[in-house]
Amino acid sequence: MVVFFYFCPCMEILNECPACGTNAKIEYLTCKDFGYSGSYFTINQCVSCKLLFTSPRPDASEIGAYYKSDDYVSHTNKSKGIINRLYPIVRNIAVNQKVRLIKKLIPKNSSVADLGAGNGYFVKAVLKAGFPIKGYEPSLEAIKLAKETFNTDLHPIETFYTTGNEEFNCITLWHVLEHIHTLQETLNHIKITLKKNGILIIAVPNPASKDAEYYKEFWAAYDVPRHLYHFTPEALEKLIGSFNFTLLDKKPMLFDSTYVSLLSERYKAKSSKAVQIYNALYRGIHSNMHAAIYTGNYSSLIYIFRKNS
Ligand SMILES: [Zn+2]
Repeated sequence: MVVFFYFCPCMEILNECPACGTNAKIEYLTCKDFGYSGSYFTINQCVSCKLLFTSPRPDASEIGAYYKSDDYVSHTNKSKGIINRLYPIVRNIAVNQKVRLIKKLIPKNSSVADLGAGNGYFVKAVLKAGFPIKGYEPSLEAIKLAKETFNTDLHPIETFYTTGNEEFNCITLWHVLEHIHTLQETLNHIKITLKKNGILIIAVPNPASKDAEYYKEFWAAYDVPRHLYHFTPEALEKLIGSFNFTLLDKKPMLFDSTYVSLLSERYKAKSSKAVQIYNALYRGIHSNMHAAIYTGNYSSLIYIFRKNS
């Protein structure tokens, strides 16, 4: 196999760990960008905090080009193939789970901010549940789509960084933190704009899950170079803890293991479609069961943190 690395001046090399600043790292895995460019990217691991991070990575001005795939369904709402057909069904179940969680964690009428609001589906559901929520989104195309599809107003992500001290009771990032170039700046502003004892909800894929271990470089949730970081529970809890937050709870996203396994099977392309679906169902259920019985390392986890007063 010929491995080549896409390289241009717009590529950013991280000499230091973006979480803890340590300059010692090891090469962890080389993954292909199956979603868009077909290029290969290296995932490094910090020897200190164990964070996995993509480096070199496209810089913030260049990364937009890597989101142009039709597979990026959270933005495009397209319905082609089994994965994209299943997506709206799973999305509906998942959004209900998210809204129930919000209702449980904060009193009604508490203010919420959602970072990386995508097509606005979650923002609309939270508004309907009776919470004032502001959704922030980097893609102008997604902001337009949210208005057209769900009649939901989203704000450009830059405006989040101008929000005042202690403005929100709860901030949510659903599969978003792994996309943010300005990791430290964003977490710092989240700390500033969240009220005392405010709730921070972060959902990210888990590279310590059984499905990640099985699929290795084909694991779809590595999703390089769009995913800049790959957070194990250990690395994420350490990072968020360093911003003076306490972990309250972790919850599984049970559908993610099968969804990610379906994509991973497609990337491996070793078997017929029917076999791929069978394998993905098996791997998805196996990953969830292994996490439930032994490790808690589900394919994706929702972390609930509270800002210390
Ligand atoms: Zn580190």
